[in-house]
Amino acid sequence: MTVIAENIRSIVQRISKAASACGRSADDVVLLAVSKNFPVESISRAVAAGLRRFGENRIQEAEGKIPSLMKFRGLEWHLVGHLQSNKARRAAQLFDVIHSLDSLKLAYRLDNASLEAGKVLSVLLQVNLEHEETKFGADRDQIRDLVEAVSKLKNLCLNGLMAIPPFFEDSEKARPYFAQLRELRDSLESEQPGCLGRQELSMGMTQDFETAIQEGATIVRIGTAIFGRRSYD
Ligand SMILES: *Cc1c(COP(=O)(O)O)cnc(C)c1O
Repeated sequence: MTVIAENIRSIVQRISKAASACGRSADDVVLLAVSKNFPVESISRAVAAGLRRFGENRIQEAEGKIPSLMKFRGLEWHLVGHLQSNKARRAAQLFDVIHSLDSLKLAYRLDNASLEAGKVLSVLLQVNLEHEETKFGADRDQIRDLVEAVSKLKNLCLNGLMAIPPFFEDSEKARPYFAQLRELRDSLESEQPGCLGRQELSMGMTQDFETAIQEGATIVRIGTAIFGRRSYD
């Protein structure tokens, strides 16, 4: 068994343990393998170990990797990093799910690009829970407008929310952020049932995914614990 296969086995076990410990089904938590900065060979090993969903954070890097993995059927590609609207066309061609939709301008660009690409693109709204100038994501007070606008776009399918809390050594410190994202989803859904489609909560990484699962994560984005440490970020 490869190191990557062993890592995956252990992560899958931890996900399932964390889910059942809080009365959830492991089937309700998707493992998204974040393969950024790792070569196609590493992704192939993860495919051989049974994974199908992969996350990348840069268009340019993804362009170099995704086409050479086309030989594997049924892979699903998620963009988890910030997307500039001038790269919307490439993003719509390459990816199945965009986790980082955070502005109206980007929504319109992606909608046009998806029409051109002949597909309906699944999107999550990235929420900035902190109001930090330096971070990406829409502020909480912009979210309702975004939800309303995006639900009118025919080539985008809004399926939930995503957030990246600040990094803490102690994952308990991330818990309030995860809870906030869940509460935001629940209040949007109660105001306008169905507005968030599959109601995904994309939250939790290597450091804190078990806490995120306890707070309702439906997609955990895991890189380091599967592929090892990245040499740069
Ligand atoms: C890199 C990255 C991850 C994975 O982080 P790890 O700590 O390596 O698990 C998850 N989400 C986003 C948005 C990332 O950029």
